[in-house]
Amino acid sequence: MRKYVIMGVQGSGKGTHSRLLAADLDIVPIIVGDIFRWHVQNHTKTGSLVRRIMADGELIGDDLVESVVRSRLAEHDWNFGFVLDGFPRNRRQAEFFVENYDIDGVIVLHVPDSEVRRRVLSRRICVECGTPISLIESRPAVPGQCDSCGGKLIHREDDTEEALAVRLRTYHEKTDPMLELFRRKEYVITVDTRPPQEMVQAEIRQQLGLPPQKTRDPQDPVPGTPETGGA
Ligand SMILES: [Zn+2]
Repeated sequence: MRKYVIMGVQGSGKGTHSRLLAADLDIVPIIVGDIFRWHVQNHTKTGSLVRRIMADGELIGDDLVESVVRSRLAEHDWNFGFVLDGFPRNRRQAEFFVENYDIDGVIVLHVPDSEVRRRVLSRRICVECGTPISLIESRPAVPGQCDSCGGKLIHREDDTEEALAVRLRTYHEKTDPMLELFRRKEYVITVDTRPPQEMVQAEIRQQLGLPPQKTRDPQDPVPGTPETGGA
């Protein structure tokens, strides 16, 4: 059983690296953002709550995140383990988590704040099909249009410079005390995410003592594709 927590500021590639780790290790990526997106898209009770919170310009509270993660973990479909992205969110949750789950490692994806800013501000999302793209990694065939469906590409509402500055500050305030706790348990590995994606993934695996990534069949779905999450 392999149980990991992945941490890093928004735009550090947590979702991508969780999926890459999970792809050939038979572990389940549990991505809090995806679970909430699934609830919104499927108009669940949690989904409408999230919509209201977003409409008010608020952030989703730690307690709501905790209850969603608890019910996701309670599904016990992770016989070989999981990699959890988006939880714990504060020191109390981190303490609860280390006491109740035998964590094997905490992966910290390190990115300097200036690089986060560059990445986040280059993100767009399709208004029609919801496909996220990064203008750093690829240019759409027609500027401003989604390659999959031709829909309009826009900034996500929370990808403004001001919102990002607040998120970065909050991230450091909340994360540093958790890292201190995890470091005391000697769980933490830190990986610089500025090199290319394959190198970052290889470094994560090496530091965790995991086998290298299997070469992917070009026919396989790209791990970066958003999943339905809590389905
Ligand atoms: Zn589209």
